[in-house]
Amino acid sequence: MSTNPLFSIQYGLFIVTACKDGHDNGCITNTVAQVTQEPNQISVAVNKMNHTHDMIKESGRFTASIISEKADFELFKHFGFQSGREVDKFADFADCRRVKNGTLAVTRGTNAFISAEVTQMVDLGTHTLFVGRVTEMAPLTDVPSATYTYYQEHIKPKPEPVGVTAEGKTVWRCIICGYEYEGEELPADFICPICKHPASDFELVH
Ligand code: FE
Repeated sequence: MSTNPLFSIQYGLFIVTACKDGHDNGCITNTVAQVTQEPNQISVAVNKMNHTHDMIKESGRFTASIISEKADFELFKHFGFQSGREVDKFADFADCRRVKNGTLAVTRGTNAFISAEVTQMVDLGTHTLFVGRVTEMAPLTDVPSATYTYYQEHIKPKPEPVGVTAEGKTVWRCIICGYEYEGEELPADFICPICKHPASDFELVH
């Protein structure tokens, strides 16, 4: 039994994309939710350290492509384990299409996309909560949406436990992306350099 009730919340997985000054980018998130039906509005909380965050803030538009159970780990690595500040994630990625709000919807490993125009931004400290009016949406396949639990159990490769390094250092592993931190104690304010998740998403490798 998990001791943390927050771990009992179930999430979907999404590639959130934006376009600013002709530049496209996207990142993986688990925070897209429909918040109202009349009108249709969705929200997404994006970490301020993500390049996509600034692009949504400045352009006022985004698209959420809903990740399906057919998504492979490469898709997560491509959009989740590298920063749009360093690489152009769409330079060699053909499985996408330009949708009406000018952003790119991802069409591989996804089952639908929803575009939105930002109507409200709420500063949450580490994140901004973007609320947007839905401007376009379309189904892509009948494959079920991947939940976060499905990703953990079926998509993410099972890492081999490594325990301690040759130097005897303890290893902490990011449960989101697999990044490993060496050190007896993981600093409480540690942020994963790859996926930007906090220390609470690290586990001690046994
Ligand atoms: Fe990580």
